[in-house]
Amino acid sequence: MTLIPDFVPNRIGGIEPPRGGLAAIDVVNPHDARVLAAIPRSGTAEIDAAVAAARAAQPGWAATPAVQRGEVLHRIANLIEARKDDLARIVALEAGKRLPDALGEAGAAIQCARFFAGEGQRLFGRTTTSGMALRWAMTVRRPCGVAGLIIAANTPAPNFAWKVFPALICGNGVVLKTAEDTPVSSWFLARLCEEAGLPAGVLNVVHGLGAEAGQALVEHPGVDVLSFTGSTRVGRMIAEVAGRQLKKVSLELGGKNPLVVCDDADLDNAVRWALLAAFSNAGQRCAAASRIIVFDSVFEAFAAKLVAAARGLKLGVAPDCDLGPVINARQLANMLAAIDRARAEGAEILCGGARATAPGLADGFYLQPTVISGLAPEAEMSCTELFGPITCLYRAAGFEAAVELANNTPYGLTAAIHTRDIDRALAFASRVRSGVAVINGGTHGSEPHMPFGGVKASGNGTREPGTEALDVYSDLQDVYLNAQMPR
Ligand code: NAD
Repeated sequence: MTLIPDFVPNRIGGIEPPRGGLAAIDVVNPHDARVLAAIPRSGTAEIDAAVAAARAAQPGWAATPAVQRGEVLHRIANLIEARKDDLARIVALEAGKRLPDALGEAGAAIQCARFFAGEGQRLFGRTTTSGMALRWAMTVRRPCGVAGLIIAANTPAPNFAWKVFPALICGNGVVLKTAEDTPVSSWFLARLCEEAGLPAGVLNVVHGLGAEAGQALVEHPGVDVLSFTGSTRVGRMIAEVAGRQLKKVSLELGGKNPLVVCDDADLDNAVRWALLAAFSNAGQRCAAASRIIVFDSVFEAFAAKLVAAARGLKLGVAPDCDLGPVINARQLANMLAAIDRARAEGAEILCGGARATAPGLADGFYLQPTVISGLAPEAEMSCTELFGPITCLYRAAGFEAAVELANNTPYGLTAAIHTRDIDRALAFASRVRSGVAVINGGTHGSEPHMPFGGVKASGNGTREPGTEALDVYSDLQDVYLNAQMPR
């Protein structure tokens, strides 16, 4: 069988329904704009069926002891490991990535599965004291019921893993609405989960557009907990619905992440990390360094090195390339328009700023790595997340000004500082308002056992993955056990 069939179906209750009368959405390789496959443009009926399947399968899964659920997750991890080359090929094609990067993402999904498999042996509650004699007081984690999961397209395999595995280990049924640009890897992973022994119906995958299938899932009364990774704009709408329905919700949203370069930084190291943080994955990371704040005294030197390095980056999906295309034509057009507006506001485009049209790239959605300076902190581009290979440079007179600029954003996802001064580094970590603070590294990078998430407009305070993700996907129940004096 070919790796990617022409039609990639939903997976509902272990069945892959034929397209029937549903309209189709093309899945396009962003590297060359070729159509890879079609997915169904699902709507309310498909979401209803998926939620019903999850509701039917969930009690049996919840009744399976958590340690045994963990064993299923271990088998899933092993099967993904065995099929990681296929998974990586799918990711590379549908997301327009280098194969080594796609393999790295498959590895991240495997690590995440293994971590949550182990959580099946923990799932700790608390045993505590009681105000009454001979009474035992404890908390126990219970599944929420059905989890409705919605993910972004940027790193498809980890995005799947970060939500699906914690939801499963807690004993929930799952309905995943895939990202319309990268739906194939989610379908492939869901198949592997069932092949590894996950009972049919526990995990259901529905393709479709956000405003249709996504909205139907968010509003569905049969969904007990929602977890969403995507833009702040959509996150706010989901929070409104969840608020009305008093539904539990976890929101992992956008970022406008600052990377501060101090006068005592190792400039070459700072350039190396800034380059990776701004341009790896073509800047399509919620944690991308899109605001680089540099002390005045080293601004020119840093800017010259960064621009030279950015000009040297190789575009494409071959193993020796540095960055690939952005996810679709609409995103490319958005970014080109934003660059035009910044230019009209007086910004200086230090490098890039245009579509890449070299042979082999012209058909794809490639934007040259772009470094911009001279923008006011209040300018549109300084405040708006672009989600592409564009970064802006800002000058700061010193540490205080740099911290102020770093915090001058509606977002608060990640932040980094480059300095050799430990006092500065620690002061930055305590004063920057972000969910992640990095010293002498990039703004990106997260580990499956660590809680990731943001403050302000970057989220609603929840953290996934890590042990903290269990708080999203389980409800605490207090259990009191009353004893009597033995006769
Ligand atoms: P998006 O919000 O447009 O779409 C994300 C997902 O939401 C897609 O699956 C989409 O179909 C769905 N969706 C869209 N409208 C919906 C609606 N009305 N109801 C329900 N679902 C809907 O975001 P995008 O442009 O695809 O992704 C990029 C965004 O994701 C950026 O803002 C980025 O920072 C964010 N992101 C955040 C994290 C994080 O962990 N904080 C990680 C990756 C991406």
